[in-house]
Amino acid sequence: MTSSPPLSPSVEHIAFSGLRSLRDLNGDISALSEKIRIILAKALAGNDISITDGIALFECHGADWEAVKRTANHLCQRVHRDRVGFVVNRNINFTNICYMGCKFCGFAKRTEEKGAEFLSFGQIVARAQEAWERGATEVCIQGGLHPKLEGTYYRDLCKAIKSALPDMHIHAFSPYEIWYGAAKRRMSYQDFIADLMEAGLGSMPGTAAEILDTEIRQQLTKNKLSTEKWVEIIRAAHQVGLPTTATIMYGHIDAPKHWAAHLALLRDIQKDTGGFTELVPLSFVHSESPLYRQNPDKVRPGPSAMEVDKMHAVARIMLHGWIDNIQVSWTKLGPQRARQMLQAGVNDLGGTLMNESISRSAGSKFGQEITPHEMVQIIRGAGRVPYQRTTLYETKACYADREPEEQAPLVERSVDQDLNFLRMFPDIRTQQKTANERAG
Ligand code: SF4
Repeated sequence: MTSSPPLSPSVEHIAFSGLRSLRDLNGDISALSEKIRIILAKALAGNDISITDGIALFECHGADWEAVKRTANHLCQRVHRDRVGFVVNRNINFTNICYMGCKFCGFAKRTEEKGAEFLSFGQIVARAQEAWERGATEVCIQGGLHPKLEGTYYRDLCKAIKSALPDMHIHAFSPYEIWYGAAKRRMSYQDFIADLMEAGLGSMPGTAAEILDTEIRQQLTKNKLSTEKWVEIIRAAHQVGLPTTATIMYGHIDAPKHWAAHLALLRDIQKDTGGFTELVPLSFVHSESPLYRQNPDKVRPGPSAMEVDKMHAVARIMLHGWIDNIQVSWTKLGPQRARQMLQAGVNDLGGTLMNESISRSAGSKFGQEITPHEMVQIIRGAGRVPYQRTTLYETKACYADREPEEQAPLVERSVDQDLNFLRMFPDIRTQQKTANERAG
């Protein structure tokens, strides 16, 4: 066994178990800086790490960074073993008409603009029905803040879907939409959300969080939905018993200090409410966003590859024990990078989606759908065990030793969806056929 360097007094107070785990994971820890050693030992011993600690993890390099990644993976495996989940769902963006003018948004259109759309309830229910027939358990519904939307629209939409599909889980309406609808109906957030739950809402996306920092939000969204309002709406949802996801959109005008503070704020909320189901880091897609196009010298074109790795790994470490599902967004990163994230503390691949419009409108080129069969191949390709889950993380089907039914994508693929790499990972039937041929 490799001997470790002598511990300085500042290290000595760290729980012995944390340092032992750190040695078990890394062997010789003498190459690690003392600061990173202390932080990782703290996390491995089950203690929360501070915002300052989080910034240090985001900013570290070399052997320190390798140890951060190993720690994230280890904490992920402690909770989830080798299992990686996905949900079969359909994304329905009922309108892209919106006048809020968020600077990062490539999705919103004005009413008279080419490509502006506003689906009828009939069209939305038909899409949900089609998704149900393809095995979806969830519809994920968000839209722009259309000026003509009645405050009762959101409730009526839930009712229309539930009357056609009583068992479909409705995961819908960002805090921005809740803010908008509650204001139109002059209701408190709690009452408005409770009314939606009664109409069939099952959970809420914690989108529109961007970076929960006033100065950054001022530049991204003119602070129309402030950090305080976002937190108030999320807390209101949790208080009336509605679970939500949590997100962070990074890689534009932000920095590690904002990321660490954002994650710590999510952790504080979770300690009070327990209402977050997962964190989904969303990398900024720059190409169609006004924010980047108007200020290409001041705005970064999305996070670097290293920053993407670090966001998922550091989120796993900072949120450990509080928000234990860290999901990668394949629409932002593409399936190949999403697979790599399964080695950086990630335990979930998100939804199959069927129709993705928000990331595509912002310039993402990673297609609209990954079928369940492809999800399973991606997860196996990372050496993990795939399972299909519900929105709220109950196991629906385990694919340790079988395949989901193969389906053609709902919308014909017009782009190279970066899935050719899956040929490297033959499915179980192909593996068995090859084994049989070899045997005789
Ligand atoms: S991010 Fe949402 S609220 Fe902001 S402009 Fe785009 S659609 Fe509208």
